[in-house]
Amino acid sequence: MTRVLVVEDEPQIVRALVINLKARRYEVDAAGDAATALELAAARHPDVVVLDLGLPDMDGVEVIRGLRGWTRVPIIVLSARHSSDEKVEALDAGADDYVTKPFGMDELLARLRAAVRRAEPVAGGGEEEVVVETDGFLVDLAAKKASRAGRDVRLTPTEWHLLEVLVRNTGKLVSQKQLLQEVWGPSYGTETNYLRVYMAQLRRKLEADPSHPRHFITEPGMGYRFEK
Ligand code: CA
Repeated sequence: MTRVLVVEDEPQIVRALVINLKARRYEVDAAGDAATALELAAARHPDVVVLDLGLPDMDGVEVIRGLRGWTRVPIIVLSARHSSDEKVEALDAGADDYVTKPFGMDELLARLRAAVRRAEPVAGGGEEEVVVETDGFLVDLAAKKASRAGRDVRLTPTEWHLLEVLVRNTGKLVSQKQLLQEVWGPSYGTETNYLRVYMAQLRRKLEADPSHPRHFITEPGMGYRFEK
């Protein structure tokens, strides 16, 4: 059974989450403040944490830092629409994903399932999925081959690297900083123009309609998300 820790100080949201999660056979612990959240996390070892950033006793980002000191448990942040700096800070502190308030329960549950799935050890000795097929293109990460509509697509090493990071995080928001550091190196982090240029190239080569991308999604000010 999957155990969820809900950290949220708004009783209505807590109630809605607890009802919906229990109905889907999750075990749920709820904390209304940061101190209780850190205690419960240590005592109950949740499989995933849903974390509101605006808590009465401490900034939610401090909860992320506290958890990341000892656990890699997936953390999904709940955040108000206007505070994009806050979301970026949360992602950089080690959050895995975020959902903007007000959120749809279906969306949150989908993100939650995806986060739990990514965290599970892969059956069969760590074999990773290396072939990704969408309705428009096919990517084989191991063979470094891509094709669209049956034709080979040539990608540069940097495009491959970027594609690989996004595909290995399918469905998950990858922050601009994370992409820059993984692809260009640890001293990068603010060169978001590089990302815009290279994402445009990936879209031009792989998307059916590059001006209306369906697979390489921009989350303005945050990062990018690959959707199958
Ligand atoms: Ca709050």
